[in-house]
Amino acid sequence: MRLILLGPPGSGKGTQAQRLVHRHGIVQLSTGEMLRAAVAAQTPVGLKAKDIMASGGLVPDDMVIGIISDRLDQPDAAKGFILDGFPRTVPQAEALDELLKKKHMRLDAVIELRVNESALLQRVETRVAEMRARGEEVRIDDTQEVLTKRLASYRTLTEPLIHYYSERRKLLTVDGMMTIEHVTREISRILTAIGAVEAKAAKKVGAAKGAKSSAKPAARKTSKSAGKGPGASKKTARASLKAGKPVPQRAKKSLRGALASAKARTAAKPRKTVKKVTKKRAKA
Ligand code: ADP
Repeated sequence: MRLILLGPPGSGKGTQAQRLVHRHGIVQLSTGEMLRAAVAAQTPVGLKAKDIMASGGLVPDDMVIGIISDRLDQPDAAKGFILDGFPRTVPQAEALDELLKKKHMRLDAVIELRVNESALLQRVETRVAEMRARGEEVRIDDTQEVLTKRLASYRTLTEPLIHYYSERRKLLTVDGMMTIEHVTREISRILTAIGAVEAKAAKKVGAAKGAKSSAKPAARKTSKSAGKGPGASKKTARASLKAGKPVPQRAKKSLRGALASAKARTAAKPRKTVKKVTKKRAKA
């Protein structure tokens, strides 16, 4: 599975990436973490990046593209990866497309965590307070002033990627204002629906919380019985994405319907949606 997590600072990318790593055994490639390590190790890249990062700016594209290219060649990336903090500009996204093409790798999806900007400053303040309480070192760019700049650069340089990936039918938007657990479940459901993960992985998420999501059994059923009849594919699509179009297998070929419906169902009313789906299934 190859994913990109997109979202402003404080949107929960790191938290969700960690959860995906544990669940799917893939690696998290965070350019922010890599750059911070380079700064700490005082490598040539780190020395160049240090002041730019401290001020909340973006380091030059070619620098991060080089880092990511090398990292994708490591054996642990072969099983799959989550890019967190990269790409952050349109040229980076274009370079990534080229890189993946050369390496014969295909991107499954870009997950955008959409959050209310007014909540972000508060979230980062809370993160900083918690880190301090644990005696951890706080990032030097986690101050109100620098965060404002990071948000501004997100808006100007990174937000255009939403359009970029939406045009390429890769974008899946999740409401990042829900609880961490809810966001995780939503991501899992979407990944199952587009066929990026097996339904049994999604089942784990629900089972862990004792949640009853009607999406899971239907998705599992259809991933086995796809092509056996129109009813099967219909059920899966409805159950997983509240839509009537694609089934996981087909969705791999044409993501359009799945992505559009996933986007639609990210309206922050997950409970209602589950009920509705259940009703529909009962009728079917
Ligand atoms: P955030 O929590 O703000 O999303 P990250 O940990 O991802 O921050 O990155 C921290 C800093 O590292 C950024 O503010 C930027 O200076 C630099 N950085 C990280 N990724 C990139 C990138 N893809 N392109 C340019 N600069 C980057």
